[in-house]
Amino acid sequence: MSIAIAIDGPAGAGKSTISKSAAKRLGFIYIDTGALYRTVGLAASRAGVEPVEGEAVDKLLESITVELAFNDKGEQIVLLNGEDVSGLIRTPEASMMASKISAVPAVRAFLLDLQRDMAKKDNVIMDGRDIGTVILPDAEVKIFLTASPEARAERRYKELVEKGMDVKYEDILEDVKTRDYNDSHRAIAPLKQADDAVLADTTEIDLEGSIDLIVKIIKENSNGAV
Ligand code: C5P
Repeated sequence: MSIAIAIDGPAGAGKSTISKSAAKRLGFIYIDTGALYRTVGLAASRAGVEPVEGEAVDKLLESITVELAFNDKGEQIVLLNGEDVSGLIRTPEASMMASKISAVPAVRAFLLDLQRDMAKKDNVIMDGRDIGTVILPDAEVKIFLTASPEARAERRYKELVEKGMDVKYEDILEDVKTRDYNDSHRAIAPLKQADDAVLADTTEIDLEGSIDLIVKIIKENSNGAV
């Protein structure tokens, strides 16, 4: 039986960086589910389809394939109709498109089995918004990872600037708040802490400290499985 760790939380809480490092330390496979919603969002942008419920989105889903794979370095890549779009989905526009299209029930249904199948095959740390509540309700350990909106915006701002993008902190903070609102107020699979999830707040903790904390929570809550 494989072991699953679910890490949910709002945008920019450091979920992916922290989960990736924790997975490396524990010898688990890291799965970033946000990349899947971003990829469907990209497909919609390219097709000129509005990211709202309706026939156009249904048709779009029938016409695309989304797959997760791993490159030679063991990093996750995501394929849209076989094309590696891992870099293209990391822009603020793609973030917003993903946030909108992820509220469409057909999109969530489209990506459900893909996520569950990945967790069946290997020991995984899977991060997202509804992993502990919907995708893997039986995960061995569930963590709700958060930080203040300002701390999250600051981190994302630095990340984008380092990539050479011309962005403003105020715009990023606005995006973070809008996405928080969209993610936690949608009718289907809203972002919320699972009843049995451990809360981890990293507002005042640096990256190394956050990784240590997550690894500690996983070890302490897995009944000796990890
Ligand atoms: O985690 P990331 O910021 O890459 O996710 C992009 C968007 O995809 C989020 O704002 C959220 O709306 C959506 N998402 C989701 N469920 C997940 C992962 C991401 O709805 N499990």
